[in-house]
Amino acid sequence: MGAYSANYPVCDEETMKQRYLKIGNKYYSHKSVIRLIDHHSGISQDPEEIIRSLVQDKLNIARESRHFRWNCPPFNPEVLASILGIRCEESVELTHSEDAELHPTGNGRMVIRYNPDKPKARQNFSIAHEIVHTFFPGYQDKYHARHQSGKFDSENEVEFLCDLGASEIVMPTPEFDLDVKSMGVSLKSLQKLSKLYEVSLEATAIRMITTDSYPCALIVLDYSHKPAEKKEIEASKYQPSLFRDDPWEPPPISLRVQYFVRGAHFSPYIPKHKSIEESSPLYEVSVTGKPFQGDAVLNLTKSPLNTYVEAMALPKTHNTNLNSRVIAILFNTRKNS
Ligand SMILES: [Zn+2]
Repeated sequence: MGAYSANYPVCDEETMKQRYLKIGNKYYSHKSVIRLIDHHSGISQDPEEIIRSLVQDKLNIARESRHFRWNCPPFNPEVLASILGIRCEESVELTHSEDAELHPTGNGRMVIRYNPDKPKARQNFSIAHEIVHTFFPGYQDKYHARHQSGKFDSENEVEFLCDLGASEIVMPTPEFDLDVKSMGVSLKSLQKLSKLYEVSLEATAIRMITTDSYPCALIVLDYSHKPAEKKEIEASKYQPSLFRDDPWEPPPISLRVQYFVRGAHFSPYIPKHKSIEESSPLYEVSVTGKPFQGDAVLNLTKSPLNTYVEAMALPKTHNTNLNSRVIAILFNTRKNS
């Protein structure tokens, strides 16, 4: 999810960094987040806990409404929006987002406009994301637009919190947690849960890993340059070639860790941008598109990581001839302890 406020002058006021709050190992400075914390200090000082609690309150309203479409998965966020008095409408003419936007209607109400041409799982998550925007004090003052979907963006505090809340809406506690408990954590369960809850594989995987039941972690791999290489490539655009016969060649692109999500009982830490060796079974998954299940030693941490891995290819997000992205569930083994 992109930084909606960074791209539009209308939101400049929101990015003014006036106060910093350190909660756990995270710093919060976004004005909307600080206002959320001040407004709900009775719940917690942690905005993640506040969002989870507010989602639970709304879900309880939905459960108590005994709406026939809110009693088992897939949980349709349009039903929740309607119970909360928010209108949802399809729109193929979104101005600020390719997914969904939240607009005031002028009569004190809000409307969520979403792109019906996106896959159903993406529509669901986008609508849920926009609902969570309404939990922030002052949300009525402007529009909100959802950007890229499919991964958590911790660099933007509000977007991250809206994704966190959206995840809870479409995969609510306790229903989702109970399903994970009964199915266990595996690629098979991931695919089943993704279908059952009508949520993308990646969003389901993140939610599954963070149910805290198992000592496991998630990595998603994609082809990219590391940040230093990106800077080098960017700088090369502005530097004329000194030797015409010897043009500058950009460094080759590698399969790298796009993001890492650690369950509460998984100890090793895998840094972002770390590249995968071509001899790794995860690289093989990317090339062949065939899933892998088995023991593997991954050179992604300071010392080699002995792990049991289940990995599969993901659809590409880029229009290139590069191989597939890869999603992998890693399980702690005793050798690492
Ligand atoms: Zn948003």
